[in-house]
Amino acid sequence: MLELTAVETFYGPSQALFGVDLHVQAGELVALMGRNGMGKTTTIRSIFGLTPASRGTITFASRDLRRLPSYRIAQAGLGLVPEGRRCFSNLSVRENLRVTSRPGNWDLARVESLFPRLAERHRQMADTLSGGEQQMLAIARALVTNPRLLVLDEATEGLAPVIRGEIWAAIRLLKAQGQSILIVDKSLKEVLPVADRCTILEKGRTVWTGTPDALDDRVRDRYLGV
Ligand code: ATP
Repeated sequence: MLELTAVETFYGPSQALFGVDLHVQAGELVALMGRNGMGKTTTIRSIFGLTPASRGTITFASRDLRRLPSYRIAQAGLGLVPEGRRCFSNLSVRENLRVTSRPGNWDLARVESLFPRLAERHRQMADTLSGGEQQMLAIARALVTNPRLLVLDEATEGLAPVIRGEIWAAIRLLKAQGQSILIVDKSLKEVLPVADRCTILEKGRTVWTGTPDALDDRVRDRYLGV
């Protein structure tokens, strides 16, 4: 479904990715891992054309994403939940969802049943929501685009345990329903049980790919520092 080969990306003159290989098949949940600053967010930015790759190939359902502007990448079926949420702060919860909604299984009613807190707060302005509620809104906003692949960047970072639990429950449910997911998350305890495969980056390169079972102490110690 999604395939990155030998991707290299720069911020101005400074190179951040030196050779990222990554793939996600339909129905899979793939965890993109690595210590801080290893290139996870830059990989996601490259996929969405936000920081375009300079070399390598990025294809999605056989389409060359490197040739498309970001809005066309979203239209091609990729839904992004960006680091830092980026909800439209001066729109209500419902308005945030309406502006991105596209026809498909995920409509307002369905996302509000996934996150009942959003239904309770549907008239509230996004900037008055708690951090956790904004994160739920960011996920819901990506879902109502009815993406073939949902991409989550640090969706549970810094949130209260109760909210984290609700978000992980939603991710498990999405996975069980066959949603394809690419996820960046530092919580191994939560991400490993739900992942089909893990890809680890170090200094902007893919250094390891395998199933969570194969991610033994040696690999964790070497690449994840745990
Ligand atoms: P974290 O887990 O801390 O979010 P990450 O694995 O997502 O880290 P990136 O944010 O992709 O890593 O950063 C990869 C490299 O690119 C780092 O060396 C970082 O300093 C650099 N970098 C990231 N954003 C920029 C930017 N806007 N301008 C210049 N360099 C950047």
